Amino acid sequence: MNCRMEPIQREQVIAKYLSRVLEADAVEEFEGHYLGCDECFDELRVSEKMAAELRRSNLTWRRSGGISVLQFSHDAELTRSAGELDELRREVLEQSDTRVIIDLSRVTRIDSAGLGQLMSCYSHLVRNHGSMRVVNVAPEVKKVMDMTGISSLIPAFSDEQEAVKSFN
Ligand SMILES: [Zn+2]
Repeated sequence: MNCRMEPIQREQVIAKYLSRVLEADAVEEFEGHYLGCDECFDELRVSEKMAAELRRSNLTWRRSGGISVLQFSHDAELTRSAGELDELRREVLEQSDTRVIIDLSRVTRIDSAGLGQLMSCYSHLVRNHGSMRVVNVAPEVKKVMDMTGISSLIPAFSDEQEAVKSFN
């Protein structure tokens, strides 16, 4: 099938499609079209990959007093549908430091899936003779952690230096 879209137009449609701001009938039209259109199909795959790369870069590592600190660089949710959940697991599991502080200052919301992910990171680190702390937990997130008893397992600190010291 020949694509009747100009490259610029295709780029815009795909960007809107991926960020879910395309109107319902335009979504239907595009979905009906791209499976049969090599140009749109390829462009969509490339754009998806780039979007995934961007999401991945939300987590960054830094060192504080000899301890690794994992931090979100922009606002994030640790909820079932959020890309940050996978990202968090990957980052914690695919590195060798076992003493890790997770800075939650940019995390605005957490649900049971997010709590589960924090727990599985914690278990992984403890199994490998390490431990985990969380710092700068927003009040709404802290409330959920307290309610579910996770706070009694994973120590939370408001001061990063205190968190660093607590490892010794
Ligand atoms: Zn096309």
